[in-house]
Amino acid sequence: MSDTSVKLRIEGMTCGACVARIERALHAVDGVRRARVNLTTETATVDSAGAGVEMLIAAVRAAGYDARRAQSAGRELTELESNQAADLQRQRQAMVQAIGLALPIIGLEWAGAVLQSGHAGGHVWWRILQGLLCAMLMLSPAGGPILAGGVRAIIHRAPNMDLLITLGVVAAFVSSAVSVVAPGVDMYHFHAAAMILGFINVGKYLETRARREASSAVAALARRTPKTALRVRDGGVETIPVAQVAVGDRIRVPDDTVVPVDGTVCEGSAAVDQSMMTGESLPVTRAVGDAVLGGTVVCDGTITIVATSLGESSAIAAVLRAVEDAQAGKTGMQRIADRVAGVFVPVVVALAVLTLFGWGLAGEGFAPGLKAMIAVLVIACPCAMGLATPTAVLVATGAAALRGILVRDAAALEAAGRIDFVMFDKTGTLTAGEPVVTSMVAMGEATDLSALWRLAGSAEQFSQHPLARAIVAEAKCHVVTLTDPTAFRSEPGRGVSATVDGRAVLVGGSTFLADRGVDVPRPDDAHRARMVEGQSTVWIAVDGEIGGWIGLADAVRDSAAAAVREMRRLGVEVAMVTGDATGTALAVASSLEIFAVDPEATPEDKSLFVRRKQASGARVAFVGDGINDAPALTAADVGIAFAAGTDIAKAAADITLMGDDLTQVPAAIRLARRSVRVIKQNLFWAFIYNVLAIPLAATGRVSPGIAAAAMMVSSITVVLNSLRLRTAPNR
Ligand code: ADP
Ligand code: MG
Repeated sequence: MSDTSVKLRIEGMTCGACVARIERALHAVDGVRRARVNLTTETATVDSAGAGVEMLIAAVRAAGYDARRAQSAGRELTELESNQAADLQRQRQAMVQAIGLALPIIGLEWAGAVLQSGHAGGHVWWRILQGLLCAMLMLSPAGGPILAGGVRAIIHRAPNMDLLITLGVVAAFVSSAVSVVAPGVDMYHFHAAAMILGFINVGKYLETRARREASSAVAALARRTPKTALRVRDGGVETIPVAQVAVGDRIRVPDDTVVPVDGTVCEGSAAVDQSMMTGESLPVTRAVGDAVLGGTVVCDGTITIVATSLGESSAIAAVLRAVEDAQAGKTGMQRIADRVAGVFVPVVVALAVLTLFGWGLAGEGFAPGLKAMIAVLVIACPCAMGLATPTAVLVATGAAALRGILVRDAAALEAAGRIDFVMFDKTGTLTAGEPVVTSMVAMGEATDLSALWRLAGSAEQFSQHPLARAIVAEAKCHVVTLTDPTAFRSEPGRGVSATVDGRAVLVGGSTFLADRGVDVPRPDDAHRARMVEGQSTVWIAVDGEIGGWIGLADAVRDSAAAAVREMRRLGVEVAMVTGDATGTALAVASSLEIFAVDPEATPEDKSLFVRRKQASGARVAFVGDGINDAPALTAADVGIAFAAGTDIAKAAADITLMGDDLTQVPAAIRLARRSVRVIKQNLFWAFIYNVLAIPLAATGRVSPGIAAAAMMVSSITVVLNSLRLRTAPNR
């Protein structure tokens, strides 16, 4: 049975322990191969062979959470956004109530001490008042959901952070209540319970706010496309919902508006700001015949476009999907953190019990032991661990997408952050991939140039290679008609063979022809001169005899030199591999100051070079555009392709660049490096915090109230640290 991937929306998660628990529950379902749960986006992605959605949802429910099937990319994001807005509203109210009830309880603790100083001992009225307020707080929206979560955790035997807080608060409340009714007992912790719930609610509010901010960049993408479009029909213009636009409809896009759907300009011309889709900072002119993407902004002029792709197949949907997928995945580091968080809670409960007994055994008595135990329970919440990676990945992939860099998943982001060697394909990557024919020279028997153009042009008609397209275009200028070839074969990175007008035609590199028994001469001066200029040359053979060669010039991309320089500054080594001839390859490489060049490489050679480099310890990124690059893109630690490149290259890539700006490559590496740094910092602080805090709490050096404050600060630090990735990096 083939694998299917299902996305679920999960409700009720609070921390990394929940993530681990749900993943375990999903993995236990028959047929599930892989389940990934994301705390930040509140989703689960499940790859399975034949496990029904209902079974998956049932498994999540049995684990104590709620789940349902997720909607399409765009809709999910809008929904996540409105959910988050409602969440924030709820959290704010809970926070206000928590503070409103906690302050009098804490105030009474101080005031009461003063009042009591006259009367020795005795249980006075204000303790009872404190107890009543505390009970109200625990049952209010500030305490109720947490305690309910804790009880649910016990029922489902799924220890989580709610459980720790519940145990802490209940221990504080019960010991205080006992003190009120039992004479001689003096273990009042009402104010501790109040502080715990107070700080937790303040923390939850701030965290919800920061998390919402983190995903708002992504939601902004979804909001970017307008909801209506101006359809041109029978000379008139009507406003219709974008959902009703059909492929082939003519859509008017006035000055200063956002393009509603992907399309091709059929009337007018305008400057289009594509920065949000491609990261290009300057507007580009788009005239009749040019493609425009939904989500870009027309900023000077009015155009009419013919809609080409809609809904799920549009460019913006691809961006949204890419961002969502990136956020659903997990880095290797987070996988470890989640596993730790999963065993963390039971360990903390055990430590808390040990603390209680430890104090008892040390002869210090029950009362201080209880206080230390409450502090341990509260301070050790592993929520910062659960947030460490997802928030950083969310912010980083969102920021990258807004700059036209689509990162496939969290693991790709992590890998990109470790790259120290980048290999570029030449044709179509370092060069624009829009070659033009500069010369054709006939040799041997062939003297009639038009006849040669007909043979070469016809043979190339079915090839997708940029050189082939240029040759076909040029041939059409020289002969009136081309004919469909028979026995057409294309060898990626080498050339094509075909039968045209009953004659066997080969077009390609010298080794390609030589392998087929053609006697290829050494290039003459004119031929070599083309190569020194960095032009590509291909040979033509007819019926096994050399017939001539064609010179093609392909401009090096404007951004290439800057990209290479930038990469060096980052300490990344740069190399070029190409299927093109040595002379041409060296000329292009030296103009870009690339000193490591591997010419005449087959697709297999390219991936071999990548593997060889990896074997020497380098972490290799490969940047390519064509079918011939797919093996190398897959072999590399990080494959980088252009959205305009072939689908096969994109499918093999970990990072897709929306524009054609090569400086996006160093930009992506830089962002990824910062992300890895932030993730490491987050995990470090989350772990170190617990390692230091637990002994302090266990030995009675931290009061329960302060423990609650510390735990709030630790998760907020992690979220704020991740938010730093939103800003454009300079270094
Ligand atoms: P790169 O590795 O730089 O992207 P390719 O691998 O696409 O270049 O092509 C390498 C060489 O293979 C070209 O320079 C050309 O000699 C030959 N070649 C590939 N495809 C064709 C084709 N369709 N027609 C003629 N030559 C081709
Ligand atoms: Mg190429």
